Amino acid sequence: MLKTIEAEVLKKHPSPALQREFAQHDFERLKPFCLLVYGASISIWLAFNLIVSFPGQQGFTFYSMIFLSVLVINLLVLAFNRRVRYFQWINLAFVSIIATGIRLVIEGLPMVLHPGWLILGASTILYSASVLPLSRWSFVTALLITWGVLNPFYLTETSLLEVKGTMVLFYAVFLSALTLYSFLKLRQLKLSNYIMAKLLLEQAYVDPLTEIPNRRSFMTSAGQKLDHQPRTHDHYLAMIDIDNFKKVNDVYGHDIGDEVLKRVAQDIKGVMVDFDYARLGGEEFGIYLAGVRHDDVEQLAALLCRRVREEPSQHPVTISIGLARVEDGETLNQAMIKADQALYESKHTGKDRFTFHVP
Ligand code: GH3
Ligand code: MG
Ligand code: MG
Repeated sequence: MLKTIEAEVLKKHPSPALQREFAQHDFERLKPFCLLVYGASISIWLAFNLIVSFPGQQGFTFYSMIFLSVLVINLLVLAFNRRVRYFQWINLAFVSIIATGIRLVIEGLPMVLHPGWLILGASTILYSASVLPLSRWSFVTALLITWGVLNPFYLTETSLLEVKGTMVLFYAVFLSALTLYSFLKLRQLKLSNYIMAKLLLEQAYVDPLTEIPNRRSFMTSAGQKLDHQPRTHDHYLAMIDIDNFKKVNDVYGHDIGDEVLKRVAQDIKGVMVDFDYARLGGEEFGIYLAGVRHDDVEQLAALLCRRVREEPSQHPVTISIGLARVEDGETLNQAMIKADQALYESKHTGKDRFTFHVP
C-alpha cells in the first residue's frame, strides 16, 4: 500500500509553491544541524590554522583574526535567520569565506603538500554542503566557488600532464559528481517524504465526502482552543444534525443524500469561516466558537438555520442546532454532551431551530 501511494506521489511533478513550502520546512527542521556544521567547520579551520601558525612557525596573522571574526558573524547571522531564501546566500558567503580561509592556511604549508590539502579542504566543504537544506542553484554555485578558490592547479606547480595532476583531476571530478548526486538524491527523497506526509495527514484529517475537517481534526483543533486560547470572551460549542435525513435517503436515494450533506457542509463553512467546524460523522456536524458573545452565537446559529432552509434546491432540508457554553475547567467531551442535550431539545420542540443548553 505504502509503495503504491509512493509511486503515485513520485509520478506527479510537485508545483513550485509546494517545493518552496518544503524548502522552508526542511530548513526549519535542519537549522540546528546547519549551526552545528558551521560551528564544527570553524573549529576545525581554527585548529589547523593554529597548528600551522605555532608548531608550523608561521605566526597567527591579522588576516586569520579577520577570517575568524567574519566566520563567527556568519554563524550568528544564520542563528537569527528564519527564511530558507536567505540561507542560500548566507551559505554561499560561508563557503566563500571558509574556502579562502582554508587556502590561506594551506599557503603556510610546503608547496608539495598543497594539491592534496586543497582536495581535502574541497571535499570537506562539498560533503557538508550536500547534506544542508540548499536549493539546486545554490549547491551548484557552492561547488563552483569551492573549486574556484581551492583550485589544486592554481599556484601549486601541479601540471595536468603529470601523473599527480591527472590523479588530482580525476579525484576532483569524481568528488564533484558524487556530492552532486548525493545532494540531488537526498533532496528528492526528502521532498517525496514531505509530500507523502502531507497527503496522508490531509487524508487523516479531512472528511473525503464533504471535504471539510473530520472528527479527529475537530477534537485536536477545538481541544487546543479550549486549553490554550485566553478567555477574553466566552467559548461555545454547537452540535448540528440534519432534520429527517433518513427520509432524504429513502425517497431520493443515497447519492442525493450525499449531495445534501455536501451542501450543508458548504453552508456551515460559509457561515462559520472564522471558527473550527467539522463533520463529526453521519449527518452530524460540530462547531467550536472561541472568543464570542452570547448574542454573536445566537445570530450565527439563526443565520445558519436560515441559510440551509432557504438554499434553492430540489431537495430542501433543515437543520437543528444545540448550543452549549464551554465552562472553565470543562473538557471538550463534557461540552459536547451538553450541546447534544440542547440538540435533543431542538429536535423535540419542532426541529429547524437552535437551542441553548440550560444547566
Ligand atoms: P432526525 O431529524 O431526528 O435527525 O431524523 P433523521 O432521519 O435525520 O435520523 P438520523 O439522524 O438517525 O438519521 C441519520 C441517517 O443519516 C441515517 C443514515 O442512513 C444517514 N447517513 C449517515 N451517513 C451518511 C452518508 O455518508 N451519506 C448518506 N447519504 N447518508 C448517511
Ligand atoms: Mg443523526
Ligand atoms: Mg438527523
